[in-house]
Parts: sequence; structure tokens; C-alpha cells
Amino acid sequence: MTIDQAIAVTGLRKSYGEHVVLDGIDLNVQRGTVFSLLGANGAGKTTTVKILSTLINASGGTIRVAGHDVATEPDAVRAAIGVTGQFSAVDNLLNGRENLMMMADLNHLSRADGRRRTAQLLEQFDLVEAAGKPASTYSGGMRRRLDLAMTLVGSPRVIFLDEPTTGLDPRSRREMWQIVRELVAGGVTIFLTTQYLDEADELADRIAVLDHGKVVAEGTPEELKRQIPGGHVRLRFADPRGLDSAKRLLGQATDDTDALALRVPSDGSLRSLKTLIDQLDDQAIEVDELSVHTPDLDDVFLAFTGDPAKEKVTTR
Ligand code: ATP
Repeated sequence: MTIDQAIAVTGLRKSYGEHVVLDGIDLNVQRGTVFSLLGANGAGKTTTVKILSTLINASGGTIRVAGHDVATEPDAVRAAIGVTGQFSAVDNLLNGRENLMMMADLNHLSRADGRRRTAQLLEQFDLVEAAGKPASTYSGGMRRRLDLAMTLVGSPRVIFLDEPTTGLDPRSRREMWQIVRELVAGGVTIFLTTQYLDEADELADRIAVLDHGKVVAEGTPEELKRQIPGGHVRLRFADPRGLDSAKRLLGQATDDTDALALRVPSDGSLRSLKTLIDQLDDQAIEVDELSVHTPDLDDVFLAFTGDPAKEKVTTR
């Protein structure tokens, strides 16, 4: 593990009886970056987070988090990390300020330091006005912000965010993303699991895709998208004559679901679009509509993870 590595995992295995959940996975996360773990429901994301955050033991492999071995130095790991999961630590009966002060007590901060840290976090998370109201009255977005603020009381260097924006409205999601970016700018490392691929695309420096207990793809969002074929231009024609002429002209075009449309393989670059439009213009072929489709993380996810129908058959 180098000094720049916040998380170093080699050969991580976890089984429940006969059921192999993690089948030897390697993960390396650089300090001050966002690393996102993607996988279908049941792929083992939460299990990974639980092992990395010392909540459960691995069946095998070596795992170092914030410079410490989770098996032999779990207390040192715990002191360096924060975890916000799908189940919030917020106490509904307490108000926002009291929730934060409670965390300050748990982290053994002095009364004065606890007050100072609480005031600072209320400010940072835009909860000053709500600080005196019971958490039970908070909206979903406010609750998530309070939950994350509570995790930060102990100034963790590595934060595990398990599905941080599930169920939030678009504005609250964006606020959460902004907070994550600010944390990373301050040098914190974020290990993010999410079911929203646009979230991983937006935030993650690197992504690993988990499937059937193995990491089946790993890289920057751009690298992963480049590995996936499927970039194309979709052309829709005014009439069947235009369609037929275009089909003859553009040898590798394939039919679209729309009867008057064609898909032409393309990397979506301006140069290739210009060539295509010039070709159509030269033949005076009229195009009603042109749209460019580049692979997104949805395509990456679908290409790398198992076919759910197939999985059903094999697990029966
Ligand atoms: P989701 O997106 O649904 O939260 P996940 O990727 O986080 O999925 P995990 O919760 O890590 O998935 O579960 C992975 C697999 O491990 C599942 O098949 C689950 O049934 C199994 N599993 C998890 N905990 C246990 C346990 N305590 N005993 C037995 N099997 C378990």
C-alpha cells in the first residue's frame, strides 16, 4: 500500500456457507478521489462496504483502509472512517444540533470543541435554520445532509457512502453531489455505492463493476464507455424513398425500430458527423431528424453485468 492509497484490497472473498458472495476481488482507491462500486441488486456492494468498514469479517484476502489492516487493526480503521448507510443514524426525537452534539460526545470531543464543530457543520450543510427543529420534521434531503454531517463530526479521512441519494428529489441529489465534491476537494476519500449510473458518472474518478462476485470492469467512466460498442447516429427520413437511398449510400447502416429510421455506427465526433451530412447532402437525401447516441454508463452496466434472465435459470 503506497502513501497515496486510501483503500487497498487484494483477493477479498466472502461466503455464507456454500454461497460465494465475493470471489476474490481487488480494489485500489487513491487518496482524495471518489471510487464507485456498481453492481446489480445482490451483487455484493453492501457486503463489500461492511467488510471494508469492519462491520463484518472477510472470509479471505487482505484489506487495508487508511493505512491499517481491517483484520488486525480494526479500531484504527474505525477511527479513520465514516459510514453513512441506507439506514440513517439520525435520532428523530432530537433536533439537528442535538444529533450533532451526540456524535461529538461519542467521538470524545470536549464540550467546547463539540459546540464549535456542530456550528461549523450546521453552516456547511445549510442546516442552521433547522438546527432547533426535531429531525422528525426534516425532509429527505435535510435528513441525508444531517446524517452525513454526523459522520463528519469525527473528521474521517475515508467515507463510505452507501446509496447516498436514493429517494431524493433532483435538487437534493445535486446538493448532495456538491457536498461530496467539496469533501473530496478537502482531501477526503469517498467510497460510493449507488444504483444511479449518472451519479457515478458525475462523481466518480474510477468505477468498478461487480458481477457474480467478481470485478468485471474497472476504470474511469470514460475508459469504461470506450470499451462498449454502440455509438451511433440515428437518422429519420421523411419518406421510404429517402430511407432506401440512404441505405444504399451508407453500407453499414442498420434498421431502427422506427420504420423510417436508420442507425449508422459513429463515434459521434464532429468530423464524422460532417462527413455523414455531406454524403447525404450530395445525394440530396432529406433527413427529418438526426440524433447522436454515445454509450453511457447504462450501456456499460448492461454490457458487463449478467443477463438477469440467464441468472434466474442458473440459480434455480
Ligand atoms: P443491493 O443493491 O440490493 O443492496 P448489494 O450488492 O448490496 O445489493 P449485498 O447486500 O452485499 O448486495 O448481498 C450480496 C449477496 O449476499 C446477496 O445474495 C445476499 O443474499 C447475500 N447475503 C448478504 N448478507 C447475508 C447473510 N448475512 N447471510 C447470507 N447471505 C447474505
